[in-house]
Amino acid sequence: MFMVSINPDKCAGCGSCVDPCPAKILGMVDDKAEVTGDAAECMGCETCIEICPSGAFTIMEL
Ligand code: SF4
Ligand code: SF4
Repeated sequence: MFMVSINPDKCAGCGSCVDPCPAKILGMVDDKAEVTGDAAECMGCETCIEICPSGAFTIMEL
């Protein structure tokens, strides 16, 4: 499985990562992206890494 994490210090709050996530587990909370869904659903597709202009995402394979 994959574990996605988002560095809130890097997130610029653009919201661009939310809709493209195929697992629909990303959301905006107080203008920062967070994993608002079931983190275990992350597919490790790295779409969020490719989209994020701030390099806020890290994906680890467990
Ligand atoms: S790696 Fe893919 S499935 Fe996981 S959070 Fe990023 S966009 Fe969503
Ligand atoms: S794409 Fe990056 S900067 Fe934009 S909301 Fe998502 S994590 Fe934050």
